[in-house]
Amino acid sequence: MLQEIDWHARAKAVALPNRPFIDGQYVDSLSGETFACIYPGNGRLLTDVASCNAADVDVAVRSARRAFESGVWSRMAPADRRRILLRFSELILANREELALLETLNVGKPIANAYNGDVVSAAACIAWYAEAIDKVYGEVAATAHDMTTLVMREPLGIVAAVVPWNYPMSMAAWKLGPALATGNSVILKPAEQSPFTALKFGELAIEAGMPPGVLNVVPGLGHIAGKALGLHMDVDCVGFTGSTEVGKYFMQYSGQSNIKRIGLELGGKSPQVVLADCDDLDAAAAGIAAGIFANTGQVCNAGSRLIVDEKIHDQLLEKIAAQARVFAPGDPLDTATRMGSMVSEEQMDRVLGYIDAGRADGARPVLGGGRVKTETGGFYIEPTIFEGVRNDMKIAQEEIFGPVLSAIPVKGFDEAMAVANDTVYGLAGAVWTGSVKNAHRAAKSLRAGVVWVNCFDRGSLAVPFGGFKQSGFGRDKSLHAMDKYTDLKAVWFAH
Ligand code: NDP
Repeated sequence: MLQEIDWHARAKAVALPNRPFIDGQYVDSLSGETFACIYPGNGRLLTDVASCNAADVDVAVRSARRAFESGVWSRMAPADRRRILLRFSELILANREELALLETLNVGKPIANAYNGDVVSAAACIAWYAEAIDKVYGEVAATAHDMTTLVMREPLGIVAAVVPWNYPMSMAAWKLGPALATGNSVILKPAEQSPFTALKFGELAIEAGMPPGVLNVVPGLGHIAGKALGLHMDVDCVGFTGSTEVGKYFMQYSGQSNIKRIGLELGGKSPQVVLADCDDLDAAAAGIAAGIFANTGQVCNAGSRLIVDEKIHDQLLEKIAAQARVFAPGDPLDTATRMGSMVSEEQMDRVLGYIDAGRADGARPVLGGGRVKTETGGFYIEPTIFEGVRNDMKIAQEEIFGPVLSAIPVKGFDEAMAVANDTVYGLAGAVWTGSVKNAHRAAKSLRAGVVWVNCFDRGSLAVPFGGFKQSGFGRDKSLHAMDKYTDLKAVWFAH
C-alpha cells in the first residue's frame, strides 16, 4: 500500500488544516495572527496557520470547562468512554494515509516511518488506554471495623497537553490516551512546526462520538499560546513534552497561577555504554547507529554519547560508521528513504552550530559533519560521528537533537559508569556487555528512567517512559500515566 501511493501527487492535493479546533469545529482565531508552516524537505511555504493568543486559549478553556462540568464525558460510564476512544483509534488508522502525509509535510520525516510507525503507534496508544479504563479498580483501605474507606480516582478537570514536533502524533497520543480515558477535557497545543495532525485529531475525535469541547486544539506559538495555558487559572494540569528549558517555565507558570499539576517529559543526553566484554559488536553497532540516526537524531532519548572501552573503540567506530550509511538523507516523500530532513532551518542551524563547536573543542569528525542536499532547498544534515570527545565538551553535555554521535573513550566499568552519569539529564541509557554480572551492575548504576541492556529504544505501552534528574518527572505510557491526570479521593463511611 505504502509503495502504491504517489505521495508527491497526494502532497499537492491534501487539505492542510490551519484553524483552531474548538467546541467541536474549526473556528477563526480571535487574534487574526498567523505563522508560516514550511515543508522542511524543500524549504517552501505550505500554508499560514492561525496563531492562537491568550484570548483564543481562554475560549478553548471555557469550552473544555463547560464540557467537563456538564458530565457529558467526565461522568460517562468508563465502558462508554472506551467505545468512543476505540472508535477514535480506528479512525486514526482509517485516515492513515492522510495523517502520515500531513506529518511528513510538517516535519520532514520519511513517509515510510510516518505511515508504518507514527500513525500506527498513536492509534495503538489511544486503544490501549481505551481498553484499560473499564478495567482499573479503586481501593478499599484497611481502616477500623466501624468504617468502610474507599480510595477513588477522579479526573483533574482541564488538562493542557503541550507537545513537541519530533513525534507529533505519538507525543499527543501519550497525553490524550490517559487524560481522556480518565474523564478529563483536554486542550492540545501542538508545536508550531507540526499543527496539522493535532488539528486532524480534533476532527476525528468528534467523528468518533466524543462530545464537543472534550478535545480542543489550539495551534500557536509557545511563548504566547503555551504560556497562556501554563498561566491559566482554570487549567488544572499541564502534560508537557519538550525541552528542559521550557519545562522549567511551566513550573514557574504553575507557581505564578493556580499550582496546576505538571508532568514533564524533557530532554536527554543518553549514554550508550559499550564494555570491553561486549560479545556482539555488530549488534551493538546497529543499535547505536539506529539509536542516534533514526528520526534524524531528533529523539529525546537518542543515544548521543557513546561511552566505549578504549580496547574496542576503533573496531566499534568502524562498524557504526558502516551502519550509518543506511541513514543517508533522502527525499522524505520517497518510500525508500530512511532519514529525512531536519524539522526546520532553525534546527538545522542549531545542529550545525554544535558540529562547529565539536571541531573547535578539538573533537574529530570521522563521519559526516555537514549540510547536504542544499539544491533541494531543504534542511538536511548527514549522519555525523565525532571521536576524541571528552565528557566536559559542549557536544557531550548539551542536547544536540540531531544526527550527531559523540564517542568518548574510557577504561573499565567504573569509569564508564561515572562518565555515563556525569550529566544533568537522566532520561535513558544503555549498556552492551556479554557479562550477566556487569549487565546487572550497570542497570543499577545508571541514573536514568529507562535502561536498555544489549538493546536500544525498545518500548511498549505496558512500560512507563520518563526521566530522572533534569529529564523531568511523571511518566508517560503504562497505567502509571493515569496518575498524572487523576487525583486520589479518600471517602470514609461510618457504620
Ligand atoms: P520546546 O520545549 O521548545 O517546545 C515544546 C512545546 O513547548 C512546543 O509546543 C512549544 O511551542 C512550547 N513552548 C515553547 N516555548 C514555550 C514557552 N515559553 N511557554 C510555553 N510553551 C512553550 O521543545 P521542542 O519542540 O524544540 O522539542 C524538542 C525537545 O523536546 C527536546 O529537548 C527533547 O528532548 C524534548 N522531548 C522530550 C521527550 C520525552 O519524552 N522526554 C520526547 C520528545 C521530545 P512552539 O513550538 O510554538 O515553540
